[in-house]
Formats: sequence, structure tokens, C-alpha cells
Amino acid sequence: MPAVSNASRRAVLTGLAGTVAGCAVTPTVPVTGFEPRRISPILMTPERIIRITVCTRGFRPTGPRLDVEPVGETRVVHNYGHGGSGWSLSWGSSAIAARKAMALAGLAGGPPNIAVLGSGALGLTSALQLQRMGARVTIYARDRAAFTRSMRATGSWTPDSRVADADRISADFQPLWEQMARETYATHQTYLGTEGDSVVFSDRYYLSGEADLPRPPAPLPIRTGLGVKPIRFFEARLNGLTPRSFPLPASASPFAVGETRMGSSLQFNVTELAHRLETEFLTHGGRIETRTFNAPSELTTLPEKIVINCTGYGARALFGDKDLTPVRGQIAWLAPQPEANYGLHFRGVTVLSRPDGIVVQNTRNDMNGVGLDDETPDREEAEATIGLVAPLFPSIRRLPTG
Ligand SMILES: Cc1cc2nc3c(=O)[nH]c(=O)nc-3n(C[C@H](O)[C@H](O)[C@H](O)COP(=O)(O)OP(=O)(O)OC[C@H]3O[C@@H](n4cnc5c(N)ncnc54)[C@H](O)[C@@H]3O)c2cc1C
Repeated sequence: MPAVSNASRRAVLTGLAGTVAGCAVTPTVPVTGFEPRRISPILMTPERIIRITVCTRGFRPTGPRLDVEPVGETRVVHNYGHGGSGWSLSWGSSAIAARKAMALAGLAGGPPNIAVLGSGALGLTSALQLQRMGARVTIYARDRAAFTRSMRATGSWTPDSRVADADRISADFQPLWEQMARETYATHQTYLGTEGDSVVFSDRYYLSGEADLPRPPAPLPIRTGLGVKPIRFFEARLNGLTPRSFPLPASASPFAVGETRMGSSLQFNVTELAHRLETEFLTHGGRIETRTFNAPSELTTLPEKIVINCTGYGARALFGDKDLTPVRGQIAWLAPQPEANYGLHFRGVTVLSRPDGIVVQNTRNDMNGVGLDDETPDREEAEATIGLVAPLFPSIRRLPTG
């Protein structure tokens, strides 16, 4: 086979876009080879709801807390406040916290005994990072993984979702965030292709325009919370890390909307992922103890003198962190449809098909959830959200049957 240089390969790929001297050119991916996409329609109807979950994200305007606080003789390394990005920043943030804990423990006296407080995304990944660095670890938590707020996450790669207020971050936040995102992305990929599919890449459709769809129902009652200026350096900092989306010609789009972009994105099948991480921790000699702490001073009663604090939104009450702001988010879960293995974004609604249910989430409503900590499910909101995206599916190109 003749050798093809990288330069000539690039020329083929960018040929359709043309080049402008001295300007960055968005690469155009040739999509002419795409057959019409045939996908299974999601049965998008309120009758299919299996549960409605509401979760409070713990958001800190200055970003996650990662400093060390002395509590008597005990040293507490904080690792909480990841907003809507906890699963997407987990491994990287926990590696930073674990390195701090290991440095505090020092090298003398064999493997250090270190405690982790909390068993959500940050607690499990902190415990595993510590084990991988050679520590003996005990997790203390009020709730086991399956019952934590982390289980109510969408399961998308969203490292910049409500993780800080752009007007409040310090100069060193951007490189720190990039380090957390890159390390997390790389570590999640070590679970790709393993039994249980806890982490997968799945197709995403980004839909805009209405084409011939029925008009949207009356607008949702928007909850009113506070506004946050989102951080906007994802592209600049993580350019080239993840697959890009590209436009699908109307003839190849399965949806009858104005425009379709298609991409491939990391997906966390959170139920399986948490189970897997917990099992991995226990298999490597970790211990989990059910315990609730009502004041930081209670940590001094633990045999471990170094503690990583991963209590999520719980840190507001436990450590009196008034900067930790609640951000309400609701998901309506439809009965699983394994044959529909994709996600989409349309009219401000995110839909993601997972083995444990189909996520239907109104992200526009979530944008206004800052300051709201009411975790009562709202059936009316769930049904209205389903109504926004339901018109997409009757006209879908179906998978051939039989
Ligand atoms: C609707 C919604 C969708 C989301 N979607 C995504 C997504 O797609 N991708 C993404 O990356 N992130 C997402 N997130 C964010 C993500 O879920 C959180 O950032 C993450 O789960 C926080 O994990 P955590 O371990 O810090 O906290 P938690 O999961 O809340 O765990 C806290 C742990 O600490 C324990 N604890 C708390 N207080 C005490 C106490 N006093 N004593 C003892 N134990 C205590 C709890 O029992 C629990 O074990 C979403 C969040 C919401 C609300």
C-alpha cells in the first residue's frame, strides 16, 4: 500500500473547507459517504416514566474546594463542590486530593492508613486513587454509592457544567481545571470495552430548527434561582481531546428537523460504574463503614489522621461552607430501551439512553436552579419536558425490523 503522508491526508480532510492563510480553519469532515442513519425511536411518552429524580448539585463560585484544613490533630483534604461536573472531573480532582493526602502521610512507616469521607463519584475515585498510590483506605459514609446524589447524574462528559462562576475564579483555576478534565478523561477511557460497559462512547444528535414538527407545547414554568456566568474555555483548553460533532446532510439525518449535527461522546452508565468502582475498591482490600458525622470534630475520633472529605453538597452542613450553593436538577427516567443507544439535544432538553433508563432532562430549567435545594420531584415539569421532544420520534427513520 502506498505510504500517505500526514500532510496529504490532512489536505484530503480539509479539502472541502478550503483554507484561509493565517486563519484557523474548522476542519470539515466529508460526510458524503454517510448512509441515511437508521435508529430506533425512543418511546417518548409520560406513560413510560419509571422514576423522577431531583438532585442538588454542590456548586462553589470559585470552583471545587481542594485545600487542607486542620481539625485538631487530623488533617482534612477537601475534595467537594464540583457542581454539574463531578463525574467528569472525578479522577483528576481525586488524584490531586490523594497526592496531597499521601504527601501529608510521608513515606516512613509503611503504607499509610487514610480515610475517605463519602461514597459518591468523588469518594470512590479518591479511595481508588489512594489505593493505587499504595495507601490502606477506609471509606466512611452515611450512604453507600447506590444511594448517593451521584447516582442521579445524567451520565455525560460535562467537565464545564456549573463548576464555577466565570466572574469569581482565580487565575490558576483554568490550568487546574484542565488538569482535572484531562486526567479524568484519560482514566475513564481505561474502562472502555470492559465487562459491564460502565463507560462507553455513544452517538449524539444535536438538533436545531423545527422543520415540519408540531409546534412546541406552552413554555415550561421556569424555576427562578440565581444566575451564574458559565465558564467558557472548554474549546480553548481541551481542543482536540474529544471527537468533534459534524453536520449531517438532511438526507442522512434520522430526524425531520432543520439541522442535525452528529457526534460521539463519552457516556457514564452511572449505576454500573459506581457498582464497578465500589467492587474494585473492596477487592483491593478497602473497607466501607456506614457512619454519619455531625461536626468536623467527630473526625478526630477516627483511627486515621488524614481524611479526604468527599461529602459533596453535605459539606455545606458539615463544614459550614456557605459558599457551597445548591443547584437543582431534575431528570425524568423512561423505561430502558437497549435498542436505542444514542443521545440527543433538542429544544433545551437532553435525552440519553442508558441501560438503567432513558434520561430526559430540561437543561434550560436547570440553568435557573442555582440557589434552589428543593429535591421534591415535579411530575408536571417532567411531563412538559417529555412533551417538548416527543414530536421528534413519530417521523424517525426506523431500524429495519426482523
Ligand atoms: C441532575 C444532575 C445531572 C448531573 N449530570 C452530570 C453529568 O452528566 N456528568 C457529570 O460529570 N456530572 C453530573 N452531575 C454532577 C455530579 O452528579 C456531581 O458533581 C457529583 O455526583 C458529586 O459527587 P460527590 O461524590 O461530590 O457527592 P455525592 O454523590 O453527594 O456523595 C456524597 C457522599 O458523602 C456522604 N455524606 C454527606 N454528608 C455526610 C455526613 N455528614 N456524614 C457522612 N457522610 C456524608 C454521602 O452519604 C455520600 O456518600 C449532575 C448533577 C445533577 C444534579
